[in-house]
Amino acid sequence: MRCAQLDEANRCRIFGDPARPAVCSSLQPSPEMCGESPDAAATQVHAMRFLAALERATT
Ligand code: SF4
Repeated sequence: MRCAQLDEANRCRIFGDPARPAVCSSLQPSPEMCGESPDAAATQVHAMRFLAALERATT
């Protein structure tokens, strides 16, 4: 499910706000999660596949 705080450009609307969940603030990007492409669209596809795999593994 898409986070309600994501804007149209897939940026967090509450980035830097103390109300942002701790899990979000502590999450560090990694090549495993984001891939290594310099292309933002490819990075997004990689990250969505990674998140989908996590969802499948935890439901
Ligand atoms: S960083 Fe957290 S609050 Fe911000 S858009 Fe992502 S999941 Fe939502």
